[in-house]
Amino acid sequence: MLVDSFNRKIDYIRVSVTERCNFRCQYCMPEKPFSWVPKENLLSFEELFEFIKIGIDEGISKVRITGGEPLLREDLDKFIYLIHSYKPDIDLAMTTNGYLLPKVAEKLQKAGLKRINISLDSLIPEVAHHIAQKSVLSEVLEGIQKAKRVGLKVKINSVPMAGVNSEEILDILEFGISNDMPVRFIEYMENSFANRELVGLTSSEILEKIGKRYSFTDEGVEAGSPSHYYKLESGYRFGIIEPHRDDFCTHCNRIRLTAEGHLIPCLYFDEAMSIKDSIRDGNLKKAGEILREVVKNKPEKNRWDSQEESSRAFYETGG
Ligand code: SAM
Ligand code: SF4
Repeated sequence: MLVDSFNRKIDYIRVSVTERCNFRCQYCMPEKPFSWVPKENLLSFEELFEFIKIGIDEGISKVRITGGEPLLREDLDKFIYLIHSYKPDIDLAMTTNGYLLPKVAEKLQKAGLKRINISLDSLIPEVAHHIAQKSVLSEVLEGIQKAKRVGLKVKINSVPMAGVNSEEILDILEFGISNDMPVRFIEYMENSFANRELVGLTSSEILEKIGKRYSFTDEGVEAGSPSHYYKLESGYRFGIIEPHRDDFCTHCNRIRLTAEGHLIPCLYFDEAMSIKDSIRDGNLKKAGEILREVVKNKPEKNRWDSQEESSRAFYETGG
């Protein structure tokens, strides 16, 4: 079992399979980076899988594939199948912008993917275009429906930003209600790569807008999830991810692996250790030691509560 120095059990790994993306979201990658990591520096799926196996043997029970945009990486279904075959009861999930899903959702589900979180920041084509800097809405909506049809459990992720999509919170919530998909609003996390002018809505501002139309009860933070959940009178539950809350990190259960092999203990900080050489040398003992070291060094909490921005790129860590 992996336990950090604050007695938190670490049983969840987020694996970013590429930093590249087909969107240029204002809050994540508004401009194309000066250069991409060269392909030869990226771990192959077999190499990533070697490390994931070590994590699973040490007690990891949930793997989420993310990016950049994970669907840009070829043969993703084969990677999913490797993980699924190694431990069929693993909680195997993905986060995607959904644009390429219509073509691949079925293949991913058949390979063993169980759950998928799809980003949906606006239901207005022009606003979605403004945020992603590309005409995306119809493809994303089609991707959401396709994922549902093939039997994946779908959640919707949405980042409310003042003056951008802040008047769409009820519409996004009602999209979730009518499609029977939980919506999770994510407080915008300040980072040095985002559009400098962005101002995110706080959890209380989001709740105030929802409260104008709905009554809800506070269900608290769910075990193993970063979301604070609320329940409408109808029984529908929605979540808010509140990284600015002082106690947000109290139950953190995750580490992150990038496509380049950096193992990252916390989304906010720059600290990381590379597992690339040990995996490429076949030194799995060393890779296991690095895993335990990174878990041990997990910081107690992020610094978003003090309004500082992170210098980590979300498209590298996978959010
Ligand atoms: N490309 C995929 C997508 O957009 O869903 C996966 C990668 S993306 C980095 C993962 C999640 O991080 C998305 O739900 C996205 O909305 C969220 N995200 C990215 N930058 C963020 C920021 N600055 N603040 C809050 N959430 C952010
Ligand atoms: Fe791409 Fe996702 Fe970042 Fe948007 S949030 S730029 S879709 S990685």
